[in-house]
Amino acid sequence: MAFVITSPCLGEKSGDCTDVCPVDAIHEGDDQYYIDPELCIDCGACEAVCPVAAIFSEDSVPEDEQGFIMKNRSFFHTSV
Ligand code: SF4
Repeated sequence: MAFVITSPCLGEKSGDCTDVCPVDAIHEGDDQYYIDPELCIDCGACEAVCPVAAIFSEDSVPEDEQGFIMKNRSFFHTSV
């Protein structure tokens, strides 16, 4: 389980989440920020500070944002 950054981050990239993550699991990509599922400890701190509500627990990602689970994972790991 991990937290996942979804489409509202695209083009927004406020980056508030990176300041609060205790394990530095959030990394900047070209189009959005991504959460490393291997490092995330599910603390929820990033979700609370995201100004565009782009961050969800993996089991709470909206239906139309499900593709971002794999997109976040793929950013860090080529295979799952
Ligand atoms: Fe970092 Fe916590 Fe967000 Fe996971 S849930 S990415 S550990 S701030």
